[in-house]
Amino acid sequence: MAVCGSCGMMINGEPKLSCHAFLRDYGGRVIRVEPLDHFPIERDLVIVMESFIDKLSSVKPYVIPKAEKPIEQGEYLQTPLQLMAFKQYTQCINCLLCYAACPQIALNDDFVGPAALALAHRYNLDSRDGGKGERADVVASNQGIWECTFVGACSEVCPKHVDPAAAIQQTKISASLDWFKARLLPGAN
Ligand code: SF4
Repeated sequence: MAVCGSCGMMINGEPKLSCHAFLRDYGGRVIRVEPLDHFPIERDLVIVMESFIDKLSSVKPYVIPKAEKPIEQGEYLQTPLQLMAFKQYTQCINCLLCYAACPQIALNDDFVGPAALALAHRYNLDSRDGGKGERADVVASNQGIWECTFVGACSEVCPKHVDPAAAIQQTKISASLDWFKARLLPGAN
């Protein structure tokens, strides 16, 4: 069903959810099943994902309200249009296929990587959020969006069509505009 993200493996060299891989698609060929690339191996097909959890935490993947309001004033409301701006990026199931596919992760273990950067983008686009500046130290660092060379393999293997490559490129544009704004209009933000 591709909902829990816990069965990611390399199947004949490709990162896939094994719950979503069907024997009929392999036409009687030998099938080689291995643990996900680019992660230490705990045992058999189990990988160690602490580094990913640290990267995920580092981008503050939660709504940081623009201003706190008393609970009696009700919820932080959002229109369907505002929701559509980021909904695609909420579909991530943390399966890590995108990390196994990413050639930059293969070269640099410290790269924050596709899923964590897509999730940062998800919260930066949220109309209720005011945490973009707090995330920028990690997101717009050399280990963040600028380490991505837009190969796009992450988006090709993503079983939830999150398109992390698009999220990263959009974040690059946004970070560049913020950089220019800060220099041309100091104090405007
Ligand atoms: S972005 Fe896609 S491939 Fe990457 S962890 Fe999320 S669901 Fe998996």
